[in-house]
Amino acid sequence: MLIDGYTRLAAVVATPIRHSISPFIHNQAFQQTGVNGVYVAWDIPESELAVTIDNIKRYNMFGINISMPYKQAVLPYMDELTDSARLIGAVNTVIHRDGKLIGHNTDGIGFFRSLSNLTAFHVEQKTLTILGAGGAGLAIIAQAALNGAKQINIFKRSSSLNQTKEKAAELMALTGVEITVFPIEETELLQEKILQSDLLINATNVGMDGSTMIIPQDCILPSSIIVADIIYQPFETPLLAFARSKGVRTINGLGMLLFQAAEAFEAWTGETMPTDTIWKALEEIVHG
Ligand code: NAP
Repeated sequence: MLIDGYTRLAAVVATPIRHSISPFIHNQAFQQTGVNGVYVAWDIPESELAVTIDNIKRYNMFGINISMPYKQAVLPYMDELTDSARLIGAVNTVIHRDGKLIGHNTDGIGFFRSLSNLTAFHVEQKTLTILGAGGAGLAIIAQAALNGAKQINIFKRSSSLNQTKEKAAELMALTGVEITVFPIEETELLQEKILQSDLLINATNVGMDGSTMIIPQDCILPSSIIVADIIYQPFETPLLAFARSKGVRTINGLGMLLFQAAEAFEAWTGETMPTDTIWKALEEIVHG
């Protein structure tokens, strides 16, 4: 990679962030497309968020990715927001275009792009059941509504149900898509909704330990359902292993990671990310 006086910078801004795979993905993309850019990781405290955002314009950067805990804190610094960022209420990508900072959110777009690329699933007019509605879950829910899903069932711990109900009502009013929120502890209801679904998504942290499964062991999966877990480490969570043992199609979170990055790269540079070759390299890193 040639770095010279014309090299432009992109970065991921968060804390902690040194473990991130994003620099690997984007630097591969810069190298393979011949775009003169470099992507780095900046671990910054909240007190330096404003000056960090200022630097995007000062140094004519492509833009930045934002990760936890700053996805909402950056909203006031944006000149414009895309529909996804506005609806989700969080920004994971800042695009520096025509002297403006455009706040965008590619998490949900990346998730559905990964599904269409890797499983040929399209969310329009489909019924989804999603477990958890934290930062990533909400991005998927909002994007599913924007993309014209038929029905979205959200299962969430009862201790934090009300906030999600308010957000669901807001999304329903804006998109017209039917969104219902249920307590995840009601396993009979969960089973009923899973049987009616085209797609089941785990957007909770459950399964990251490699041993805990988010749905009951006796859960029945319809043969046509796709089971997605947005976790990619472990590569196959207990939920995905269970679904595979039942002969059901599965997808993990690696595609979401890659395609949310592809959306950002393409918005910054106008070039298509070579996702096929980067996917192979990523699989080797993450899966071993
Ligand atoms: P988050 O904002 O902290 O949300 C976590 C969600 O999981 C919340 O809804 C939380 O429920 C729920 N949850 C946690 N423990 C639970 C349990 N024992 N039972 C039921 N629900 C539980 O986190 P996030 O950023 O959305 O990330 C969630 C997962 O997605 C993580 O594993 C993360 O690594 C992964 N992720 C993957 C990608 C990707 O590109 N593939 C991107 C982002 C995140 P409460 O609200 O009730 O606490």
